[in-house]
Amino acid sequence: MSDAPVIDHIIRSRRKTVALVVTPEGQLEVRAPQRLSRAQIEDIVAKKANWILKTLERSRKASIAISKRELVEGARIWYLGASHPLHVSEHGTARVQFSTGFYLSESVLPKAADVLTVWYKNQARHLLSERTEYYTRQFGLKYRSIRITSARTRWGSCSRLNALSFTWRLVMAPLEIIDYIVIHELAHIVQKNHSRAFWEQVEKMLPDYRSRRTWLKANGRLLDLSIEANESCLKVAD
Ligand SMILES: [Zn+2]
Repeated sequence: MSDAPVIDHIIRSRRKTVALVVTPEGQLEVRAPQRLSRAQIEDIVAKKANWILKTLERSRKASIAISKRELVEGARIWYLGASHPLHVSEHGTARVQFSTGFYLSESVLPKAADVLTVWYKNQARHLLSERTEYYTRQFGLKYRSIRITSARTRWGSCSRLNALSFTWRLVMAPLEIIDYIVIHELAHIVQKNHSRAFWEQVEKMLPDYRSRRTWLKANGRLLDLSIEANESCLKVAD
């Protein structure tokens, strides 16, 4: 049979039955009892050929879907609400440079996500400190400290002692959204809960906060390095 599946690995053990496994890398692994001959294993594989080929095909498609989101030349990633192309530079000295897009030196490409995360954290530290300073001065508030986190769904927090934290992912969002989160956390300096009084405080500081909050609810999950940045996905709040 010419189109019989190719066996990539045979793992023998004291097991009593045969298991056919299609690995996430799209390889066929056969787990077999010690006593089973190669010919017997090939016979079993041939009988299960349909299932194996179907499963291999599904695995191949899944790996294409994953590789679409890989950080490679031309991938688009968010910064301040716009998507920017990623370029791989062969002779770059800096690990990451940002101008009209992201320039990543080829040597760091295998750990692109880590290198970009460090870059985003630095941007977040500068920008969020600056916005917090600006608004605390404007509203006459005092905070204790700022910490940058890697939280996925929690954009910011304000502790009992007014220590603020913000996730670096926020710098993927437009500035208006960043400012909404900063003001939201600063409003917690006045009100430590999400009561009506709290939202009144937010509204006093940022009258159009509702549309910004709606935007973040609709689009927040797209602000992720593993998701292709596509501006047409972003829903504009009313
Ligand atoms: Zn809150």
